Amino acid sequence: MIDFNELINALKGDGVTRNLDELARIVIPSNFRNGVFFGGTEVYLFKVDKYVVISKINYNGEGIKKVFDELGRIQINAEVRRDLEWKAKDSISVWKIDDYIILKKVESKCVFCGNNADLTNYKEKYICKECKKNISKA
Ligand SMILES: [Zn+2]
Repeated sequence: MIDFNELINALKGDGVTRNLDELARIVIPSNFRNGVFFGGTEVYLFKVDKYVVISKINYNGEGIKKVFDELGRIQINAEVRRDLEWKAKDSISVWKIDDYIILKKVESKCVFCGNNADLTNYKEKYICKECKKNISKA
């Protein structure tokens, strides 16, 4: 059995960002699917902390079975979305390592300072309390 935590620790950079659609599907970029995942390919989802690992192997029989559709999409099931607080239209980072696809919700952060607490959403961007205060003074 592969160590999913080791896989996650090996992730580099921000990955590629894709949004969940209204039916909680995510398009896996075609260069990530090439030669490995096709329309009809059965895969298994594993929740690992805040990540979802997509694998062709159902380790310990514990994965949640999903099938790639012809457009390269995978639907994330309701239980996983509830646990990870993923909602329709959320941005998800996508990585590929070997034959695994790894997903994680993009964390919201202040566009000015990167802080992720006390955020206000304004026109699809986030601003923290401190920056909001400083801007209003400026
Ligand atoms: Zn800020």
